[in-house]
Amino acid sequence: MTAPAAAETATSAPYPYRVVSRRVDTYDTVTLELRNDAGPLPPFAAGQFAMLTAYGIGEVPISLSGGGEDGDCLVHTIRSVGAVTRALTGTAPGGTVGVRGPFGTAWDLPDADGGDVVIVAGGIGLAPLRPVVRAALAERSRYGRVSLLIGARTAADLLYEAELREWADAGIDVAVTVDRPDGGWGGNVGVVTSLLPGAEFDPARTVAFLCGPEVMMRFTAQGLLARGVPAGRIKVSLERSMRCGAAWCGHCQLGPLLVCRDGPVVGWDVAEPLLSVREL
Ligand SMILES: Cc1cc2nc3c(=O)[nH]c(=O)nc-3n(C[C@H](O)[C@H](O)[C@H](O)COP(=O)(O)OP(=O)(O)OC[C@H]3O[C@@H](n4cnc5c(N)ncnc54)[C@H](O)[C@@H]3O)c2cc1C
Repeated sequence: MTAPAAAETATSAPYPYRVVSRRVDTYDTVTLELRNDAGPLPPFAAGQFAMLTAYGIGEVPISLSGGGEDGDCLVHTIRSVGAVTRALTGTAPGGTVGVRGPFGTAWDLPDADGGDVVIVAGGIGLAPLRPVVRAALAERSRYGRVSLLIGARTAADLLYEAELREWADAGIDVAVTVDRPDGGWGGNVGVVTSLLPGAEFDPARTVAFLCGPEVMMRFTAQGLLARGVPAGRIKVSLERSMRCGAAWCGHCQLGPLLVCRDGPVVGWDVAEPLLSVREL
């Protein structure tokens, strides 16, 4: 069956997707694999997001953390923070979740062709970046050094631990730090920016991908700028409260941007002037 156009599925009622697998990643985070047997949505690109409905409760934006190529299989990693995410993360295999999408802008990995890639994630921010890591690995020879720097509150908050080992074995420079060294943690302690000096890359030929709390992205971007990475080659994923996802309601307005349409992925040259205005 031919996939409908993105504009059509964005504004339609949610498409029912079946939960085919549910993996518990941490004490508050779950990865769901969703499948639409009736006919696919358009393809989702890394960096884009879906509006996921927990029927009878509500709808929230959640980024793609895997799948998406043909729109019939979507993978989402969801942290339970409130009513909707609690219901979504509690949905067992066989259950149904509503999906609208794809929405927003994508990470532009081809921009990094021939150069180095620096990926910096804070907490759940690793979820939207997972497809970037996997794409870089799939075409490893297209890039120079690929560094993945991860910050988590504690070791118990670390996502995708088994995959991190696989990625390191496959030639990605993986470095992890935690804010609080609970439970016998023997690794780095401190904020994720403390990992930047140890990352090797050629600033003039680097594209950086950042996702995490705004303050983390700000300090990371400043660190990268100080090393000489141009602002436009530092990509960040913005988060704002969203309702429609289709640039109608204005909930996610950030200055001249509607983050659901013009984001979430934007260059730091675009984000910085907007994020530095208080209460914009
Ligand atoms: C483009 C985009 C992509 C996202 N991708 C993911 C993802 O891949 N995985 C994931 O787990 N979450 C993601 N989020 C965040 C997710 O949408 C929120 O956690 C969700 O909307 C919370 O809804 P709720 O009803 O469960 O909780 P609510 O009752 O709405 O909120 C519970 C608590 O979480 C806080 N909160 C709510 N929304 C946000 C937010 N957007 N940012 C920070 N704090 C918030 C509230 O202030 C409140 O303290 C994304 C958000 C955006 C805008």
